[in-house]
This record gives sequence, C-alpha cells and structure tokens, in this order.
Amino acid sequence: MALAFVTVFFLACNNDESKKNTNKGVVERVEQKQVLEFGFDVEEYEFKRDTVKKGDTFGIILERNNIGYPKIFQIAEKSKDTFDIATKLQVGKPYTLLFSKEKANDSVQKPTTFIYQQNLEDYVVIDFKDSIQAYKRTKPITYVEKTATGVIENNISETLEKKGLSQKLAFKMADDIYAWTIDFRRLQPGDRFKVIYTDKYINDTIYAGVHDVKAAYFEHNGDSLYAFEFKTDSIKNIVDYFSEDAKNLRRAFLKMPVKFGRLSSRYNLKRRIAYYGYKVRPHKGTDFAAPVGTPIMATANGTVIESTRRGGNGKYVKIRHNATYSTQYLHMKAQNVKKGQYVKQGDVIGWVGMTGNTGGPHVCYRFWKNGKQVDPFRQKLPEAEPISDSLKVKYLDYIKPIKKRLDDIFFLETEPESIENTITEGNNTDIQ
Ligand SMILES: [Zn+2]
Repeated sequence: MALAFVTVFFLACNNDESKKNTNKGVVERVEQKQVLEFGFDVEEYEFKRDTVKKGDTFGIILERNNIGYPKIFQIAEKSKDTFDIATKLQVGKPYTLLFSKEKANDSVQKPTTFIYQQNLEDYVVIDFKDSIQAYKRTKPITYVEKTATGVIENNISETLEKKGLSQKLAFKMADDIYAWTIDFRRLQPGDRFKVIYTDKYINDTIYAGVHDVKAAYFEHNGDSLYAFEFKTDSIKNIVDYFSEDAKNLRRAFLKMPVKFGRLSSRYNLKRRIAYYGYKVRPHKGTDFAAPVGTPIMATANGTVIESTRRGGNGKYVKIRHNATYSTQYLHMKAQNVKKGQYVKQGDVIGWVGMTGNTGGPHVCYRFWKNGKQVDPFRQKLPEAEPISDSLKVKYLDYIKPIKKRLDDIFFLETEPESIENTITEGNNTDIQ
C-alpha cells in the first residue's frame, strides 16, 4: 500500500519525467518525502476504512470506536457549520477513521479523525485530535487528452468495445455531437471516426471515465463531418459543437419527440385508409410508435400555449417556439406541463398514451410553420445558436491546429498510448 502512495506522490510532483518512468515499469521510491493521504501523514496514522451501514450515524460510529457522548456532541456542535453530521451520512459511502500510531498510555485505542467521502472527489475531515476542526477538501483531478479512431462493422458500440474504448464516446457522439446530423442506428459498414477526447483521473490513478470530447471527425455515407467543441458564452458556460465552417451542429429542433420510437406514419397528404373505404385522409402529423408511458420531449425551446384534452386529439400539448414555428404532441397518457410554462428542448412534457382517436400507443407529432402544418422531415431546420460574427474569426483560428491534428491521425487497429496534454487542476495540495 505504502509503495503505491509513494508512486502516486512522485507522479504528481515530478510530472513528465516520472510518468515516463512508471510507464516503463520503473517504480522509484522517493527519498525522504512525506506521503499524505487526505492530508495526513501515512507514517503517523493508522487508516481504518469502512462504509456507512444502515442505521449508522456519526455518533454511533464514534461510540463504536470508544469515543464517549459528551465528546461526540461537542464535535458535532463545533463542526456543524462545515458538515451537518446528523443528516448527511449516506448508506454505502466510505469513511475512514485515523488512529495515531504513537502509543497512548491508555490501552483503549481512540480515533483522532473522521473522514467522510461524499463522492470520488470530495471529502470532509472532522479532526478532533487536539482542538476540533472540520473542513472540506477535493482530491486533485487530472485530465488526460487522448485520441481514438474506429471503423464501423456493425455498430459503434461494438467498434468501441473491440478497441477497449469507453461506450461514453458513443453516447457523446450519438446524443450530443452528431444527434442532428447522423442517425447512429443507420451507420454503414465502413463509416469511420476519429476523436480527440479527455479522460478524467482522480489523484492521477483512479479512472473516472471520459470527461469530454474536444473534436471529432465522422465519415458517414461518404460525407465528412467535423465537429469542434467551442464555448460561445463563458459567463453562461454555453458550449456547443460546430462544423469546420462554424455552423452549429445542433439544430433548434430535435428530430423526434421520443428517444426510442419507431416512425410509424409520415406526414402524407394523399394517405388512403382502408377503414374509411380507401378515401384520401391526409395525415398531417408524423407518428412515432412507442410503449405507453414513454417520455415525450419538447423538440425545441418554447412556451406551452395549450395543454388540454379535445376530441380525436386526446390529451395534447402545443408549444409555440417563435413567430414561425409551433409543435403539437397528441394522444398523451398525461401531460407534464401547464399552459404558459416555458420549456426547453428535451424537457419531458408528457407521456405516450392512447387518448383520442388512435389504434395503438404512439405520439402524433404536428409541426406548424407560419400557421400551416408541414412535414418536419422536409424542413431545413434552423441551427440552434449561430456563432456571432465576432466570435467566428476567433473560432476559425482556434480550430485550425485541432483540425490539423485530426487530419494527421491515422486509422489504426489498436490505439497507441497517447498521453499528450495533462492538465492538473490547481488549488489542491492533498495527495492520496
Ligand atoms: Zn398522427
């Protein structure tokens, strides 16, 4: 255990040099360096680790460890501004008790410190060795930039899995970056991609998953689609993906109001229905079949102008997006919004049902442009937030070297160990 800590400490302190050494399998001991965990010297303390069990409270845990009640109240009182012990211990979360290695005259061992880990990064220290102190700390986070490529044989998940890459890259590309431009259920064999992304590590050692995708390139059906992440508003922290010519890849409208639904009937002005003796019954909506209870999402930001039940429509919601566009969602089991409410793209506004005239559970999605119902699939939908002219110059400058990097990546069978930029977040002194 101690050796591991030594190595980590070494990594964090000496950066590149040590990283090279460790990668080669050369583990060097650091001479005379203090090794800290949660800010405490591992030579000085015994670390007793456990997890919060059902019924555990701060008091019960300390009592079990030979701390008596007047003292527990005192500790709780003094630390309550930092951490309210009575309400905040969650079952299953790890905690650590520290015991001084110095032999006390007392035969009964008593802890000096209680450390509670709220998540992988954040922890609270309640120290009662001498005076009582309570404080919060965050473990140092490191982001490591990596690149990856893949060629689709069947689907993206399989391609990622074969290369040992995180599925989060697929979600990121399918749901965030290319959700509006590529249908990931219809990828073709031979479609291929490159990504520049960052992995997150806690204390340089604990892998905490894919953090972010900085840039991507996707070849689909012979089209080349670049995507670059760019912050357009640093105050509101608005980040979007843009193409190489600064077009927002996100559209003002989602393609569908349900995440997993089957397009069961398209907008069709010449539809004939057997039930009506094959007479023309135009269908001005687009139907998505999905099980009862499937969440229905607002396809764009807007204000709810109707949330009611009427005739064949059943329970429905209508949203006005701007002077040009409105959308309507029919046959809901129940609505989740009220008239006058402002909703954002992706918000759940109701659930799929069978109210009104319908043969099976589906949402009938109606798309209104200038007061007329049109086929949403034939609209050239506006981009979500176009880049401002002043930012555009900055953006094009910013992506130049990143695009070159993307272009220089070869499609490989296996990914090379590519540690290029390591960014460690400051403001932390604690090394575990
Ligand atoms: Zn319909």
